[in-house]
Amino acid sequence: MHVHLLAALAVVFPMTPTPYSPPALADRVSGAAVKKHLEALQSIATAAGGNRAAGTRGYEASADYVIEQLRQAGYQVRSQVFTFPYFRESSPPVLRTGGSSHLVSTLKYSGSGDVRGTATPVPGQGCAVGDYRTVARGSVALVQRGTCSFEDKARLAQSAGAGAMILVNNDGEPPHATLEKPGVRIPVVAVGRSTGSRVSGRQVRVRVKAESGSRTTRNVFAETQGGDPNRVVMLGAHLDSVQEGPGINDNGSGAGALLEIARQLAATSARTSNGQVAPLGTAVSNRVRFAWWGAEELGLLGSKHYVQHLSSAEKKSIALYLNFDMIASKNFTYGIYDGDDSDKDGAGPGPEGSGAIEKAFQDFYRKRGLPFTGTDFTGRSDYGPFIEAGIPAGGLFTGSETVKTPAEARLFGGTAGVAKDACYHKSCDTITNINDTALDVNSDAIATVLSKFATRLPRRR
Ligand SMILES: [Zn+2]
Repeated sequence: MHVHLLAALAVVFPMTPTPYSPPALADRVSGAAVKKHLEALQSIATAAGGNRAAGTRGYEASADYVIEQLRQAGYQVRSQVFTFPYFRESSPPVLRTGGSSHLVSTLKYSGSGDVRGTATPVPGQGCAVGDYRTVARGSVALVQRGTCSFEDKARLAQSAGAGAMILVNNDGEPPHATLEKPGVRIPVVAVGRSTGSRVSGRQVRVRVKAESGSRTTRNVFAETQGGDPNRVVMLGAHLDSVQEGPGINDNGSGAGALLEIARQLAATSARTSNGQVAPLGTAVSNRVRFAWWGAEELGLLGSKHYVQHLSSAEKKSIALYLNFDMIASKNFTYGIYDGDDSDKDGAGPGPEGSGAIEKAFQDFYRKRGLPFTGTDFTGRSDYGPFIEAGIPAGGLFTGSETVKTPAEARLFGGTAGVAKDACYHKSCDTITNINDTALDVNSDAIATVLSKFATRLPRRR
C-alpha cells in the first residue's frame, strides 16, 4: 500500500528536486593538497626540536593544526585526553670507574641522578629484601638479572637506600630493558656480564638524565552530521611520531590524507542542488567518523583508550574501521590489509566483513590498472583494538623496515634489497621521505572506498 501511494505521489509531483550528487570525492582530493598538510607537519616538527612525539609540543601543535583545519571545514571537533607513561633521556647514561667509561644502557623509566658510591654485589637474585642487607645507604647495588622483574629489583634497591642500581646481564651486551612504568626514583642502568665483574666492589659514578612520569595527550575526532549514526564508517590514522624524528611518512602520510579527505567531504556536502547550505554530510547515508590517534608509537595507546571506553551500543554502531599508517613509503608496495587471510600469512582473518573491505581496495587498484599485494594484520597499528572488539577492519600500508623483494620490485618498481621505508623511525623520516605517486594514488584509494562505504556498507562476508 505505501509503495503504491508513493508511486502515485511521484506522478503528481514530478518536479521533486533530484538529490545533489557531488563530484566524486576522489576527484577533489589531490596529492598536492595532502602534501601541503605534510609540509605543515614538517614545519611543526622542525620548530619543536625535530619530532612530533606523544607528550611533546610537536604533538600538541600537530593536533592543533588538524583541529583548526577541520573547524575551518565546518566540523565540530572533539578531543579525547588521556594520560600515558612518558620517558625521555636528555643525554646518554654514564658509568665510570676512575678514568674509564663503560658500555651501559639506561632502563626505560629509570630515575635521574648523578651518584658516586661503591658498586656492591647483591647476593642471590636480588628478589628478596634480605638480599640487600649488604647495600650501604648511598651505595650502588649491583644486581644479577633473573627470577623477578627489573622493577621489583629496582624498588627493593631503592627501599634499601641504594643511590643507584646496576643490572648485570647474562651475556656481553647491556640489555635494552624496562622498569615497565614510571615510579622508581634512583638511576637504574644495565651492563654486560664482564663489565659487571670489572666494576664490582669499586667506586663508581652512575649518571642518568631523564624525565620519567605521566603526561597527557589526546585523540582528535570529527564526524559528519549527516548519515545514520548507527552505521558509522570510521577512518583512523595516528598523528604522533617517534621521538627519533618528524614522522612524515609514519604517519604524517595517513594523517594528512584523512585530513584532506575530511575537508573535501565537508565541501561536497555543504551545498544542495538548489544552492542551500545543507548540514555537513548530507551526501552520505552512513555516518562518517575520522580519528587522529595519539601515542600509537607507545603501544597503540590512543586507539586502545578509545575502544576501551566505548559502550557496547557505541561499539555496535561502528560498522567498520579503516586504518592508514604509512601510505607513501619511498620504496612502496601498494599493500592492502589481508582481511580474509587469503595470503595464509601471520595473523588470521579480521572479523567478518574485513574481506569485503580488502576487496573494495583491490577493486580500486584494478580499475586504475595498478598492482597491489596483501599485508598481514600484524597487530602493529591502530586496527588492533578494533579487530579485538570484533569490528571489521581494513586499510592500506606501503611498507616499513622490511626489504623489497625482487618479485615486488618487478611488480611495483623501486629497488629490490632496500627497505620499503629506509627512514622508518629515524630522523630522516622528513618531507623528502615521501613517494608523491603513492601519496596521490592512496589518497584517491581512501576517498574512493570511503565514498562507497558511506553510501552502502559491505556485506559481512
Ligand atoms: Zn605508524
